[in-house]
Amino acid sequence: MKKSSYRDFEATELYCPKCRRAVPVKKRLLLILPEGDKYDYSCVHCGTSVGDKTVRQKDNFRIITN
Ligand SMILES: [Zn+2]
Repeated sequence: MKKSSYRDFEATELYCPKCRRAVPVKKRLLLILPEGDKYDYSCVHCGTSVGDKTVRQKDNFRIITN
């Protein structure tokens, strides 16, 4: 069994109200905001949006002003 390469994939499972169970989700960039990127998570089976997440750029995007 080869599982090592599979670990790169973000195997998030969220509850889908339509499928009525935890399902694998697709991550999709929804919006680019000044404070971060907003991602949408949708069910791989029916495409229903099951959640979203804003990833803040706090470490990579640091401007030093003196
Ligand atoms: Zn679903």
